Amino acid sequence: MKDLKLTGRRPGAKRTVVDIGGVRFGEELVVIAGPCSVETEEQTVRTAVAVKEAGARMLRGGAFKPRTSPYAFQGLGLKGLKILDRARRETGLPIVTEVIDTRDVSWVGEYADVLQIGARNMQNFSLLREAGKSGKPILLKRGMHSTLEEWLNCAEYILAEGNGSVILCERGIRTFETFTRNTLDLSMIPAVHSQSHLPVLVDPSHGTGILSMIEPMSLAAVAAGADGLEIEVHIDPPSALSDKDQQLTPAAFAQLMKKLTRLRRFVDELCDEALDEGSDAAAARCAEARAEA
Ligand code: PEP
Ligand code: MN
Repeated sequence: MKDLKLTGRRPGAKRTVVDIGGVRFGEELVVIAGPCSVETEEQTVRTAVAVKEAGARMLRGGAFKPRTSPYAFQGLGLKGLKILDRARRETGLPIVTEVIDTRDVSWVGEYADVLQIGARNMQNFSLLREAGKSGKPILLKRGMHSTLEEWLNCAEYILAEGNGSVILCERGIRTFETFTRNTLDLSMIPAVHSQSHLPVLVDPSHGTGILSMIEPMSLAAVAAGADGLEIEVHIDPPSALSDKDQQLTPAAFAQLMKKLTRLRRFVDELCDEALDEGSDAAAARCAEARAEA
């Protein structure tokens, strides 16, 4: 791929670890979990406590929601950010939250540990530049109609502003299939790893929109080498103000976390074996994956 001066990976080069307060994307399996939207303090803090207990490393929650309809719940804005701050103080979990407007980047950045740029804004180049200038770590989701090359070029906009803390997130693309909300393109995990040194997560919640598919697709993502997951969890999904059909209960999330941890250990063991045995393609892939500490 041409012109990926900063995001491209030279063959054999190590992958980048994005370290956010000791949470190391690209080295350990990092699960970000939390509600689609911040709705109330109780809903957010209780969800945060539950996902932390289950092993999540960061809390997600939207205070600014990019909604299809202008009449749908748009998020609590500043009030939502203050609730997230409260949840962070209660749990110690760093906060991932979306920013949708260039004018909001700097003040939202005062509350967020990671700024999320959503699928609908992936190619909002002024937002990407502003996010780059903020110096905050950025979670960049793949646009629903975007190619790998377009996605990596968007990351390039952020790195070009001197901000190297970019984490990519595959969240599904639009295809002719309408059974699932999106078609979760897990082939992007090895594809990103082959073309870029940046870590890549998978969002099986928006990627499928179907509760029963979140566990199998999360496991598949880990098997394919994802650096982490972003999963929607709500203390009472039926009452959620957005995406109520795809949010896991804390109990279901805890079950999933146990399986993910065991699967990741197994994948790491396979890597160790490949490295011990030496010279096959799997060993080369594993060597690259073991980023510099
Ligand atoms: C989200 O994660 O809250 C979200 C809106 O996701 P996406 O931008 O992938 O649709
Ligand atoms: Mn959502």
